[in-house]
Amino acid sequence: MAKPNLESREKILTRLCDRNLLNCYLCIKCTSGCTALKLLELKPHEIEKLVNLGFVDELASSDIIWTCATCLKCFQRCPQKASPYHVIIALRNLAVEREVKVPEAYMKAVSQILEGGLAEQPQKVTNKKMETCDREGLKLPKIRPPKESFQTVFLKALEEKPS
Ligand code: SF4
Ligand code: SF4
Repeated sequence: MAKPNLESREKILTRLCDRNLLNCYLCIKCTSGCTALKLLELKPHEIEKLVNLGFVDELASSDIIWTCATCLKCFQRCPQKASPYHVIIALRNLAVEREVKVPEAYMKAVSQILEGGLAEQPQKVTNKKMETCDREGLKLPKIRPPKESFQTVFLKALEEKPS
């Protein structure tokens, strides 16, 4: 059975630039607007609650923290200025530090950003005439690959260990 670990909770708290980021009163406004809830059933208010109770180790080793789309909606909607987003990022940093296996889909998105500058490859769409169009067909500009300087900074950031 999972047990709370107050030492790990303290570790997360020291990583948050503002401890009020965990100042949650469970109104669920964050979850009701969460981008990932619709697709992945990520419930940000539960993450806040579990961290507050000290179940940090379980969260740091769970795939759920990698489903956040980092859209920051939860931070903007919160009446308490708590931020499931910042808590999730702190949990991800802890997971990487503990060498927990990062989900493959997440690593694929990282490598696509590195190579093409985008987390997802451009998709074809169907127009009103039911024709399939790519960006060129829609007269949209070509997506340029990222510059070498971007790749250098990106790789450096990936190599850095969270403090
Ligand atoms: S919106 Fe803020 S206060 Fe409400 S449940 Fe989410 S984190 Fe907690
Ligand atoms: S930042 Fe993550 S947790 Fe917050 S609303 Fe967006 S997807 Fe949900």
